[in-house]
Amino acid sequence: MPAPAVAVTNADLHCHSTVSDGLLTPSELVRRACANGVDLLALTDHDELGGLSEARAVAVQLGLRFVDGVEISVSWGDDATVHIVGLAIDPFDVALVAGLTQLRGGRDRRAMRIADELDKVGIHDAYQGALQFAGNPALMSRSHFARHIVAAGHAADVKTVFDYWLAKGKPGYVAHAWATLAQALAWIHGAGGVAVLAHPGRYPLSNKELRQLLVEFRDLGGDGIEVLSGSYNDNEVREIARYAREFGLLASRASDFHGPGESRIDLGRLPQLPDGLTPVWERFT
Ligand code: AMP
Ligand code: MN
Ligand code: MN
Ligand code: MN
Repeated sequence: MPAPAVAVTNADLHCHSTVSDGLLTPSELVRRACANGVDLLALTDHDELGGLSEARAVAVQLGLRFVDGVEISVSWGDDATVHIVGLAIDPFDVALVAGLTQLRGGRDRRAMRIADELDKVGIHDAYQGALQFAGNPALMSRSHFARHIVAAGHAADVKTVFDYWLAKGKPGYVAHAWATLAQALAWIHGAGGVAVLAHPGRYPLSNKELRQLLVEFRDLGGDGIEVLSGSYNDNEVREIARYAREFGLLASRASDFHGPGESRIDLGRLPQLPDGLTPVWERFT
């Protein structure tokens, strides 16, 4: 008989390295997760798989269970952007790799347009500035612009930069066509993975729109949602837990850690899942 699997007590299934918009390298991230007592970790860089082999190698050295992940940028509805996390994906799946390569291809042009818009409101040379903060030039993100704008002395912190310049409706925001929801789910499932709607409490959607997103996600075969996220308050956790039960979705535990000093919740420092939910990791442990 196979030995019973060791129970997971501190899963963290969403974080970012320097391969996307995190502040720590994949190795540093895995070491920090281990030191924080995480016993099941997924690295989920935005639209990128490039950090997974390094992260896995360090996780193996440390005896930490590791899950290959990705966070895919999706355009949904009229003009919303949502994120779909793929967990336990095959990082060598041809369609997934090709889809993400194409998705990343639009980022550099977008970054130039963001810089043009920022130039009009007095923030000059932002493309070169943001590039200095990007660990991966193929993955220029609004986070890199935000860090540059803070370093240049225009704002006290990254959150302020988003509030004034980079959030939707602000002067440096540039609309962009990401993947479709159907594409993201097809890539994840085609690569043998589990699809999780990231931080559903964070989208600027009405309740009606969020329910519509959940219906479409479930009808396309979506598997789970992040019931715990580094950005939620207690009320949001309760609300998202209700959605998980109502829509029959698995529950994920996900710090969305980007780096020390920038993220409110550190790796593995999340509460336990509320009762009556099935943890998403039962699908791959
Ligand atoms: P992008 O994929 O380039 O549009 O960048 C999105 C990233 O920006 C997210 O993954 C977050 O890391 C960051 N972000 C978005 N909104 C905010 C915010 N209000 N405060 C801080 N970071 C944010
Ligand atoms: Mn990010
Ligand atoms: Mn996200
Ligand atoms: Mn994220």
